[in-house]
Amino acid sequence: MNDSGFYSIFNQDYDIEQEPRLVDRELRSDDKFEGALRPKSFEHFYGQQKIKENLQIFIEAAKSRNEALDHVLLYGPPGLGKTTLAGIIAQNMNSDIRITSGPAIERQGDLVALLTNLQEHDVLFIDEIHRLNYQVEEILYPAMEDYIVDIIIGKGPSARSIRLDLPHFTLIGATTRAGLLSAPLRDRFGMVHRLELYEPDEVAQIIKHNAELLNVGIDAQGLAILSTRCRGTPRIAIRLLRRMRDFAQVKGRGLIDSEVVEVGLKALEIDAQGLDNTDRNLLSVMANNFRGGPVGLDTLAAMTGEDPKTIEDVCEPYLMQQGFIAKTPRGRILMEQGWRHLNLIPPADLLSKNATENNNENKTESKVENNIEVTKATEYTQLGFNQLDFDT
Ligand code: ADP
Repeated sequence: MNDSGFYSIFNQDYDIEQEPRLVDRELRSDDKFEGALRPKSFEHFYGQQKIKENLQIFIEAAKSRNEALDHVLLYGPPGLGKTTLAGIIAQNMNSDIRITSGPAIERQGDLVALLTNLQEHDVLFIDEIHRLNYQVEEILYPAMEDYIVDIIIGKGPSARSIRLDLPHFTLIGATTRAGLLSAPLRDRFGMVHRLELYEPDEVAQIIKHNAELLNVGIDAQGLAILSTRCRGTPRIAIRLLRRMRDFAQVKGRGLIDSEVVEVGLKALEIDAQGLDNTDRNLLSVMANNFRGGPVGLDTLAAMTGEDPKTIEDVCEPYLMQQGFIAKTPRGRILMEQGWRHLNLIPPADLLSKNATENNNENKTESKVENNIEVTKATEYTQLGFNQLDFDT
């Protein structure tokens, strides 16, 4: 971060001491060139079709009315393109973007300084907006709604309040935990977009485009394998592409083909489903120590030596999306597919439970069809990101 409290979108800062895993969605020190590869237009921002279409309409409309774009909340796991999208929005609005993050704004005065330095129609991007403290958040309410801030000058009996008019700006908030956002703040965003994990064909487009930018060849098979191993996350895809380029250079003939990708991913211990050691360790602790669970987050963290936040934000969304684990009110459980991924046979009672559950689900569906109100009788609720997030 520079002195003015802003991050540069094209030159991020990194905490090198806290180096995450290769398939981590968080930034690593070797992502420092990410900024240069960041798409600057909707054209090269692949996937997230619905969000893109809507944003383009809203931007067009705001521009034709000569107004600032309404405030936007982007949420979803790290590495899916929230920062990139904010940059593209600003670019399309022909305005400047100021980037900061929730924890960086410690005092009300910091936020007032940021706001009063904006120009008309500028974009203020606040990453990790759920980590803003309450006092700072209060300044945002009138700023977002009426483009004003009230500041108190002086102390005690001589203190007085001054109201400052702000330029009409667009706040873009990004968060991995929309559920932690207070309701008043969430309600002040005119648009709320949830970014989804990318499909392999979308990831393939991103990898292909980045391979061109990095000036490295990748063939169709190499691309097909790589695009299914990066957890549907562009940041991981680009990171793996760079590692594959190294393998191609040293072990191959410079081209990233299926052989290079297989060798490379094996060396990095990333398996056919994109899971790394940490994920597999998590699954095997659940299988071997808890007979598939249910097991609580803190227990899992203690047993695997991982940070609970990493387990919750990085490992679990993907493991749940793949159907390896599920969250129940009593804790995490290993699903049948999880057992099979470890080459273990799931306990017989799990299989029979699943069978009962399927039966119940079918019954539930048929009752709903008959317009009879019933509660869903499933013990295993596979929560999507949305539910997971808002529930925790
Ligand atoms: P987030 O802010 O959600 O953590 P970023 O916007 O920093 O994610 O994106 C991480 C990296 O992935 C960036 O280098 C960006 O270029 C790339 N990226 C993300 N989404 C896309 C996309 N839809 N198309 C192309 N590249 C993308």
